[in-house]
Amino acid sequence: MTISDSTSDAFLKDFHYVATIGATANNGVDRQAATDEDRQSRTWFADWVNNRGYQLRIDGIGNMFALIEWNPGAPFILVGSHLDSQPLAGRFDGAYGVIAALHAAEEVDQRIRNSGSKPPFNLAVVNWFNEEGARFAPSIMGSSVSAGLMDEQQMLAVTDLQGTAVGDALDSIGFRGTDERPTAAGYAEIHIEQGRILEREKTQLGAVDGSWYTQKLDIEVIGEQSHTGATAMADRHDALIAASKIVLMVENVTGDFEAEQLVSSVGQFVVEPNSPIVVPRRVHLVADLRSNEKEVVETARGKLKDEIEELAQASGLKIAVKDFDIRPNRYFPESGLELQEKVAADLGLSIRRIQTMAGHDSIAMNTVVPTVMMFIPSADGVSHCEREFTSDDDMVAGLRALTEVAFAMIHGELDDGGSQEYGGPHDGGLRTEGSQA
Ligand SMILES: [Zn+2]
Repeated sequence: MTISDSTSDAFLKDFHYVATIGATANNGVDRQAATDEDRQSRTWFADWVNNRGYQLRIDGIGNMFALIEWNPGAPFILVGSHLDSQPLAGRFDGAYGVIAALHAAEEVDQRIRNSGSKPPFNLAVVNWFNEEGARFAPSIMGSSVSAGLMDEQQMLAVTDLQGTAVGDALDSIGFRGTDERPTAAGYAEIHIEQGRILEREKTQLGAVDGSWYTQKLDIEVIGEQSHTGATAMADRHDALIAASKIVLMVENVTGDFEAEQLVSSVGQFVVEPNSPIVVPRRVHLVADLRSNEKEVVETARGKLKDEIEELAQASGLKIAVKDFDIRPNRYFPESGLELQEKVAADLGLSIRRIQTMAGHDSIAMNTVVPTVMMFIPSADGVSHCEREFTSDDDMVAGLRALTEVAFAMIHGELDDGGSQEYGGPHDGGLRTEGSQA
């Protein structure tokens, strides 16, 4: 069975409509968590759900659930993603997964009603709060609270750069709820790849089998502030010179491995006092190291720590390096991968197994329930920018696959009897401190 043309047309119409909410000059969107633009896309979601008579629930951290219940009291298969975005972001990241989930759910609902059957699980579409972590860090907030990996009260107290707390921001847009979360028995998410493997291989679907090992290094370089003109060169203790060398070390270390085996960047860099006539006294920077192999990240980390230590000795500056936001490899259940492959074969869609380098709500959910994560192609692999693009045909192919995956999951095809072994133990899970998607 496959979805009708009217379902795919309705999906595309909704997708392109939601892209107008918070639209930017160059075809992107800017809908950071709990802003007025986020409120507008949430209102659209709520109206869509209410118009179809589905039950809408909003929990204490702003996650939105649309419940379709055929079997009163039975747990729910959740399907969804996030409607929030990075600043000046693309219109596909997250939004595609939520809107595809709504239309897949409606299609599944029609089939169940037509057949008069009573599947073992109900279905709920979810819009997770603050996946991006742009305005409020950490990222993957709503799903991590739901999975018990982050504390709700602690997250409600997180502030943005203006000092506004998550709880107050949610109140101000009217989306801090008090509803109970539906009991989840499984989770499925579809997302753009944000890489170029599927495009390069002309493959329509990626069945995500695992997530990369990642870690960050928090680095503080302490020099001494002095006059840029009056201080002799020999007397300068310039924190920015040392920090700049570290930025290059973080890039150069990738050369010790095969191409693309290790990816790294310094994404944050703060200079103090940042005055044109003062030799910088302090630089704070954050390096992000990611690889599919834990050993690669650990080897790179070790080398960087040694080189930074040597630099500290040679320059006479104090340099502190701290490990944080360590995320182990996570593996998605084999039964979910096989389900995606079966669905793809039935629909005549091409599929390959793939890893994710980016964080996703599905990685949090996979620590508590069996989870399916699917990718569709991203043009040129670009994401978190306005140039992000995926064709209508690729989006519809993904919607078709997601619909069949959801249909299979409500019939218990991924039921694991409540085991938690899929993502590994909670204490090795997502860390709350400063994690970023
Ligand atoms: Zn996303």
